[in-house]
Amino acid sequence: MTGTQQIRTGIIGLGAMGIGMAQTLAAKGFAVAAFDLTDTALTRAAEAGATPKQSVADVFAAADIIVLSLPAAHHVEAVIADAVNAGHLAHCAESRIVIDTSTSEAEISRKLAATLEGNGHGFVDAPVSGGPSGAAAGTLAMMLGGADAHVSRAMPVLEALGQKIIHVGPSGAGNVAKLVNNMLVASHMVTTLEAIRLAEASGVSAEDALRVINSATGRSAISEIHYPTWVLPRSFDSGFSTGLMRKDVRLALEMAKAKGCALPLANLVADLWSEDRSGLSNTDDFKMMGDPQADRFKGENE
Ligand code: NAD
Repeated sequence: MTGTQQIRTGIIGLGAMGIGMAQTLAAKGFAVAAFDLTDTALTRAAEAGATPKQSVADVFAAADIIVLSLPAAHHVEAVIADAVNAGHLAHCAESRIVIDTSTSEAEISRKLAATLEGNGHGFVDAPVSGGPSGAAAGTLAMMLGGADAHVSRAMPVLEALGQKIIHVGPSGAGNVAKLVNNMLVASHMVTTLEAIRLAEASGVSAEDALRVINSATGRSAISEIHYPTWVLPRSFDSGFSTGLMRKDVRLALEMAKAKGCALPLANLVADLWSEDRSGLSNTDDFKMMGDPQADRFKGENE
């Protein structure tokens, strides 16, 4: 057995991101116990080389390092509560590490980390960037919050999932860094859309405008990757939903409010992302926001 194969991993939440992570860990030789609420996801997990389980408790029973990939903080709390109730995070239970890759909330991560640590277990907030393709390729960027000892123990699994791993600070620091990053992503969708609209209205095509922007100082991941890959070909299938983008902007603004930090532009961006202003539902792909041909925000200055 190699060192990798001795680590028993689990994944809870097998959506756009979790399924790719399950596939990556299985392909790299880890034992992977997997659970999701839907049967379709469990079938896909088996196809990806993981072992489907019937409950959160079953995953914790089969794994030492458990990765969560859930929509929001309250799902994370619910999953941890299930594991606690089943006795897998008790003081006398074998020590486990939870790696929470969900885009979650710093306060909740700190609370869960304190609870687990009190019983000899570890909780690392490890939100990710890189989308479903990065999860499936093991090339995610990961931003970590947690104690050094827990991060060290989680490292073989983190290194299998990610290419750029940054230990930002203590518990919750990963969540803060992720929300700050995604606030920029949400803003760049709007500013890049406006730049392209202006270029097209003035006789320069979106393709030509992007060629220049991406060779100059206005570029971002949105102009370099998202527009060429999902917006200009009009496939709008990045795998990241508008609902998740709205959640991130909302959480960033809540954090700003709690800290008394004025963010006038982020408030406007949140408004533009709202269902009323954007016309997008929570299940639409978030790249739809960058569609220069849509009527979105047209005529705002008229
Ligand atoms: P998703 O909605 O596709 O998947 C979430 C999965 O969690 C679903 O399959 C759902 O059934 C499952 N789930 C919910 N509650 C559960 C429970 N109690 N037990 C087991 N499974 C449960 O979401 P996603 O796009 O995979 O994103 C997951 C997380 O990663 C989110 O927090 C998101 O903000 C973040 N994220 C997503 C992307 C992306 O590009 N999709 C990129 C970076 C970060």
